[in-house]
Amino acid sequence: MIIDTHAHIDVTDYDEDREAVIQRARESGVQYMVNIGCDVESSYRSMELSEQYDFIYATAGIHPHDVKSIDVDTYTHLRQLLQHPKVIALGEIGLDYFKNYSPQDEQRTHFRKQIQLAREMNKPIVIHSRDASEDIIAILSEFYPKDPTAHSGIFHCFSGDQELADKALEMGFYISFSGSVTFKKADDLRTVAKTIPADRLFAETDCPYLTPAPHRGKRNEPAYVNFTAEKLADIRGLKIEDVKRTMALNFFELFGIGENAKTGTVSYKIRNSLYLNLTQRCTADCSFCTRLTRPVVQGYNLKLDREPTAKEVWEAIDNVKSYDEIVFCGFGEPTLRLDVVKEVAQKIKDAGGRVRLNTNGHGNVINKRNILPELSGLIDEISVSLNTDTSDAYDEICRPLPMFRNSIYAKIKEFITEAKKHIPEVQATIVTHQKDVDETQCEDIVNKEFGVKYRARRYNIVG
Ligand code: SF4
Ligand SMILES: [Zn+2]
Ligand SMILES: [Zn+2]
Repeated sequence: MIIDTHAHIDVTDYDEDREAVIQRARESGVQYMVNIGCDVESSYRSMELSEQYDFIYATAGIHPHDVKSIDVDTYTHLRQLLQHPKVIALGEIGLDYFKNYSPQDEQRTHFRKQIQLAREMNKPIVIHSRDASEDIIAILSEFYPKDPTAHSGIFHCFSGDQELADKALEMGFYISFSGSVTFKKADDLRTVAKTIPADRLFAETDCPYLTPAPHRGKRNEPAYVNFTAEKLADIRGLKIEDVKRTMALNFFELFGIGENAKTGTVSYKIRNSLYLNLTQRCTADCSFCTRLTRPVVQGYNLKLDREPTAKEVWEAIDNVKSYDEIVFCGFGEPTLRLDVVKEVAQKIKDAGGRVRLNTNGHGNVINKRNILPELSGLIDEISVSLNTDTSDAYDEICRPLPMFRNSIYAKIKEFITEAKKHIPEVQATIVTHQKDVDETQCEDIVNKEFGVKYRARRYNIVG
């Protein structure tokens, strides 16, 4: 199941075969589709489509191209439309300094006025931004405080740079990519698409425009959102199921439509790996970690009512051999449950599987002994979060338990050195974009001091 967050199937391009287009969308797994209003008429047409089809939702708004035709009644219509239960957002609104079909000052005036209306009516907005990044951000920041957990709306058909994406994310916007991310020359856009946190990502067609490869040149339609999602998965080293799942959860988070992720997930699949969730407890409290507030990874809710037993964890693995690897991970520190790790890892090894352990590297301090010899033969790969280049930065960003402070960073380094003796593959990771962390310095430490693999990852990019 997939969602097309931005379609224009009300336009005349579909007059001959609209029903068939909708049918094909259903058949290709489109679970929800949002038809977007661009002016008063298309907003009403979107609303009508949403009344005819359960799975279609609508928005109402005046596109920057069309703000020149706003008259005295326009805002009354918008207010009315936005009261309809299936009109879920205000948009598309924004600034388009590429085509300039409406004068720029009018575009800015009505962008502000429509945002005001959305704020008043408590609706997310759908933003169209073309060659106008600076003004878009300036105007949005008049209305949206910095809160990356907010549900402010969607930047549709994102075509901006990293700076625009980061600023939008800071204000709690979601980023939606259209078929343009599949175009040959779109390497820069793909680089940005790779960095968008999973819980902020959407795909759309913007049909009838921007048809994704391999259908470029033909009329676009909602069924083709699959090609865009496939490309996004590809860029991010994931499977299409992974991005579909996260986008469905994002749709629920933003609009309350669909299903929330079930809690209590003990095992969860990302790519072709199976992850095991043993605990939510941790000896750190990293400033970027949402394990207690929103323990969601790639569309799975890892909140546990209680910790699973070794037997339950083992039973949560359907078929060891069908996975590339089985990973002890989760939101929490697995070595707090060392006995469970060892027992289950042994069973996985006996069944011919490959095991990885993702850890904060506190295991020897937690268990008051060198646990690495005990893991020898059970763990094929260990990934340790080093996260910073200095002990002070570690204490500040990863906020270890008070009794661990000042000393734990050196212990993590010892843990990595010791791991090399007992585990075939060792890697150290950092979460990028933390202030006061010199990422080159981290890489240097990992390469020179330990000679192990280094991986920098943006938070919530992969599981
Ligand atoms: S070490 Fe991992 S689980 Fe623990 S607080 Fe940090 S990010 Fe969260
Ligand atoms: Zn647009
Ligand atoms: Zn559009």
